[in-house]
Amino acid sequence: MLYVVGLGPGEKEKMSLEAIEIIKKVEVIVGYTTYVRLIKELVGEKEIVSTGMKQEIDRCKKAIELAKTGKDVAVISSGDAGVYGMAGLILELVSQMDEELAVKVIPGITASIAGAALLGAPLMNDFCHISLSDLMTPWTMIEKRLHAAASADFVICLYNPRSKGRPNHLAKALAIIQQYKSKETIIGLAKDVGRKNEQAILTSIGDIDETLVDMTTVVLVGNKATYLSEGRMITPRGYQL
Ligand code: SAH
Repeated sequence: MLYVVGLGPGEKEKMSLEAIEIIKKVEVIVGYTTYVRLIKELVGEKEIVSTGMKQEIDRCKKAIELAKTGKDVAVISSGDAGVYGMAGLILELVSQMDEELAVKVIPGITASIAGAALLGAPLMNDFCHISLSDLMTPWTMIEKRLHAAASADFVICLYNPRSKGRPNHLAKALAIIQQYKSKETIIGLAKDVGRKNEQAILTSIGDIDETLVDMTTVVLVGNKATYLSEGRMITPRGYQL
């Protein structure tokens, strides 16, 4: 059996019981080095196939080859495996195979959901996820989605917001969002959620210090009704109070 397991954002407490049981049960763990480290205590002496970033296809092919020999294999992703993770790639590769292979996807808490809990209750109304990485989606398409989401006043969760290779993507994205939302719109930065340097920062489109944002930050841009109260970011559901 081939499992694709979402580990949650980092700490064991935020993993599902199902994910923990599967990690304990399987014979082989396949994953990006950093994620294998996150679950070191569960992995023990198991066989580990661990590669660096940007080797996803090789890693997934290797996992499929191992599972075809009859071994129980877990491919691990941080957060949820189906949110910019490994679940889609595994299912795409398996769908191209002639032989059958049983695959089970195990959900995990994705960064936006864990980050939202840290920041308060920012996702109480309609929201969307947009990745600012243009490695596999053209920037023109990302811009289109930013226009659509901001004009419809979604709460917007930005993944892959800013990296050394893409230092200006967040600023460019916020410039588009600002065409539809005011400078006072609340932004929550959830950094290293579930990890050692976890941090919640509350700011606004006008005041954001983009240099605080890195590749383990998820950026939550509020809607027009989102407000701050006692250090919490709140998007009203719409109750009459
Ligand atoms: N599958 C992952 C997302 C992978 S894309 C999930 O469901 O969470 C990588 C992006 O996710 C990062 O650039 C960052 O924006 C976000 N992210 C992942 N882990 C995070 C964490 N622990 N804290 C904050 N953001 C995180």
